[in-house]
Amino acid sequence: MLNDTICAPATPPINSPLGIIRISGSESLRVVNSIFNYPEKIKPRYVVYGSIIDNNEIIDDVVLVFYQNPQSFTGEDMVDIFCHGNPIIVKKIINLIIRNGAVMAEPGEFSKRAFINGKIDLTAAEAINQVITARSEWEISSSIRQMHGSLRDVVNEIKSRLILLKADIEAGIDFLEEDIEFISEADAITQLDDIRIQLDNLLQRCRIGEKISHGIDIPIIGKPNVGKSSILNLILNSERAIVSNIPGTTRDLINETIQFAGIRTNLFDTAGIDKPTNEIERKGIELSQQKIDSSSIIIMVFDAYLGINNEDKAILEKINNKKKIILANKIDLTTKDVAEKYKDIVGQNIILFSAKTGEGLADLEKEISNIYKHELVDYENSFVADIRIVNKLEASIVKIQDCKRLLTHKEPLEVISFELQILIDTLSEITGEISPDDVLNSIFSRFCIGK
Ligand code: GDP
Repeated sequence: MLNDTICAPATPPINSPLGIIRISGSESLRVVNSIFNYPEKIKPRYVVYGSIIDNNEIIDDVVLVFYQNPQSFTGEDMVDIFCHGNPIIVKKIINLIIRNGAVMAEPGEFSKRAFINGKIDLTAAEAINQVITARSEWEISSSIRQMHGSLRDVVNEIKSRLILLKADIEAGIDFLEEDIEFISEADAITQLDDIRIQLDNLLQRCRIGEKISHGIDIPIIGKPNVGKSSILNLILNSERAIVSNIPGTTRDLINETIQFAGIRTNLFDTAGIDKPTNEIERKGIELSQQKIDSSSIIIMVFDAYLGINNEDKAILEKINNKKKIILANKIDLTTKDVAEKYKDIVGQNIILFSAKTGEGLADLEKEISNIYKHELVDYENSFVADIRIVNKLEASIVKIQDCKRLLTHKEPLEVISFELQILIDTLSEITGEISPDDVLNSIFSRFCIGK
């Protein structure tokens, strides 16, 4: 209930130097006044030092800040209490606050209130959650831009253009008798085409963002024993993949997530592409094949000492149409003329590599970054939009085509105006100006408590 005063810990239940408790709602100040030993010292936006008291017992020494509405995160009166970071203390203070009239907050309730009170739009609210859960630098910087309105501004600009267009078309309805035209059909179509381009561009930026948030898959492939697991290990600097001299040991897909160029990257150590001798091997090979088919970037490894044979060529053939990075591994065992010798066979540059000495690792990282810049066009400007937003944009693009068709078929202006309103409403759902309760609940329930 929006009338309740809510409270929640904003820090996880672990022992740490500080624990933070948040309170929001009209009763915040009254509640804190009744549990703090210097209530008279509390004034908006000032830090106050004192003790939390329960029946003359000191629960903890704290500092607290009172934010008077509307100048707070939720737009309501709020208090943040900074106590010592012991979960027992945090719990005691929370219990005391609840005994004095507040209730425990639902997940995401602070952000939901901020949204309902008009402090943030829905794209910013979702971005706040993404800042907390982000797993790469790109996601963090992109979420922060989105928190500051980057996605909202683009959506609102498109919406303003549609509102103007609709007004022009509706003016035409009012003056139909007088035969005054406010916008020609051709102009209206041109504008719709223009807006469609903007929507396409926005959708593209959201799709790239969605892809990056999930992480980019890069399988490491090559025949058995060329050093795939060792390379993965080197990259991860861990011992997760089993390295052994018996060919075909990696029977499952070993997946590790790391960052390249600030982007979350899922590296897969695939089973060697070879003839399976048993069911487990067959399954491993099948999994590798699926991963290779669904990935657009692949690391292919061959043994620099043994050179490229027909088996390697067959593997190269299979990934013909993919963006690939080719590593000549075990370069420590041979001379450095490998790259020149095999360049023509593979049809591109080869990175001289050694999982043993680490040679070539910097080149590999540089190459992956370059490919990202190239493949994920303009990814610095993409959005951390989730599937909800992508769906709304797709629906908007379908709708804009409908409007165009209606205009071309010279349908009544009222019908076109009605359809344009549906389109505008769809865009309003992205920022949350129109926001059915179930949508809000599903968005905010994904948040953690205290946010
Ligand atoms: P995979 O079957 O392709 O995953 O190959 P592994 O990573 O299991 O490596 C097979 C063998 O080659 C192991 O004995 C590794 O120690 C060895 N090996 C891997 N990379 C290198 C390298 O760069 N130099 C040398 N000298 N040996 C390597």
